[in-house]
Amino acid sequence: MQNEPHVNSWYAASANQQLDFPALRGTVQTDVCVIGGGYTGLSTAIHLRQRGYSVTLLEARRVGWGASGRNGGHVGTGQRVDQRRLERWVGRERARDLWQLGLEAVATVDRLIAQYAIDCDLRRGNLHVTARTRETDDLRAEVEHLDRVYDFREIRYVERAELAAMTSARGFQGGTLNLGARHLHPLNYALGLARAARDLGANLHEASPVLSCKQGDRVQVTTGAGNVQARFVVLGCNGYLEKLEPRMAARMMPINNYMLATEPLPEVLARRLIRDDVSMSDTLFVVNYWKLSADRRLLFGGGESYTRRFPADIGQFVRKNLLRLYPELAATRIDYGWGGTLAITMNRLPDFGRLASNIYYAQGYSGHGVAIATLAGKLLAEVISGTAERFDVMASLPKKAFPGGTLLRWPALAAGMLFYSLRDRLG
Ligand SMILES: Cc1cc2nc3c(=O)[nH]c(=O)nc-3n(C[C@H](O)[C@H](O)[C@H](O)COP(=O)(O)OP(=O)(O)OC[C@H]3O[C@@H](n4cnc5c(N)ncnc54)[C@H](O)[C@@H]3O)c2cc1C
Repeated sequence: MQNEPHVNSWYAASANQQLDFPALRGTVQTDVCVIGGGYTGLSTAIHLRQRGYSVTLLEARRVGWGASGRNGGHVGTGQRVDQRRLERWVGRERARDLWQLGLEAVATVDRLIAQYAIDCDLRRGNLHVTARTRETDDLRAEVEHLDRVYDFREIRYVERAELAAMTSARGFQGGTLNLGARHLHPLNYALGLARAARDLGANLHEASPVLSCKQGDRVQVTTGAGNVQARFVVLGCNGYLEKLEPRMAARMMPINNYMLATEPLPEVLARRLIRDDVSMSDTLFVVNYWKLSADRRLLFGGGESYTRRFPADIGQFVRKNLLRLYPELAATRIDYGWGGTLAITMNRLPDFGRLASNIYYAQGYSGHGVAIATLAGKLLAEVISGTAERFDVMASLPKKAFPGGTLLRWPALAAGMLFYSLRDRLG
């Protein structure tokens, strides 16, 4: 039987390899059972195999089927939260550690791609823009702060006139160009990680949803057709966790985010939209993010929803946001529209932790997971092999449960998010 296919996206249509892994059958003994086949789980599997641990990875559907195969492909520097705010929350010293870990996350993405020859259209640069004059001073201050406090010289402020030459996107007053950021084809990156994990000797299983995970000296992990007995377990289910582990569910909120891909664009038009092939994003609460694909489509993300249902016509849903920025694309065909579910936390800081001395998890990357979930795998492998220090830097970040716990967080959060998205529209 074929495993469940990827969602119908431009990424699935341009996937450069087809990987199929068998479902788990029978009882398996392993050092580490990893649950979830996205960046968190795959990176964990790679880094554990590099240290010699036996690894069994269980994926409910197909590797890269979740957010890791559907996202914008933006690889941001630092953490999801601005360094100045982080300093206020955790102090300058800890904020420095977090900044360094954020840079290491991007370097880890680069290294894995080079080491395992992952073909995923890796490119450099993010242009982050604002339509609000009042925010330009803040972007300038951020650049100055990163330079002065963190010696980070890869970001600079871009004045309105220069910006107009870099993009035909409407209405922006200024921005920052960050050459430390990257962008890539997210599904091909995930598939490349899966191939690397397999070649390193990890046992990957698709169509193997974990139904229960029972604590003990050896953790008992059960799927419909098999069992894994493991010294350690890593949970990497992020926005798709559902009911598997209520203790983690209360600290994150699954939200849906949507993307489209246009038809391939003529070279001249593509260069007008984004001259230098960097990724772009804006400062709205419900952020718009976009980039060109290798075959010169505009891949545009914008719009989210907080109920379980996706809009009937996702392409049209996202197109409204696209045309606000690029009215010149009114006659451009939309070839694909798709959505995915990611996990956000209350304070947008990732949620790393332990459920028992041998059960670890990382989740809640809040839209910054391409880099940080990849790093999570490295830190999870470190903590399992006995070095907890860097994992604990992440695990000790302030955590906040959503009001109302797992039952009420949907309506409470939906109301809050709708308020902020309304503020976006009002300017
Ligand atoms: C539309 C969209 C755009 C985004 N854009 C960006 C971006 O540009 N930059 C960025 O940094 N981040 C972005 N993100 C977020 C980013 O994709 C995620 O943070 C990241 O992929 C999380 O990786 P993960 O491995 O933790 O989770 P996922 O990739 O979601 O993987 C979790 C996996 O766990 C599996 N699973 C769940 N339950 C079980 C179970 N019981 N048993 C077995 N397996 C199970 C699921 O099937 C799934 O494959 C975006 C997300 C979306 C949805």
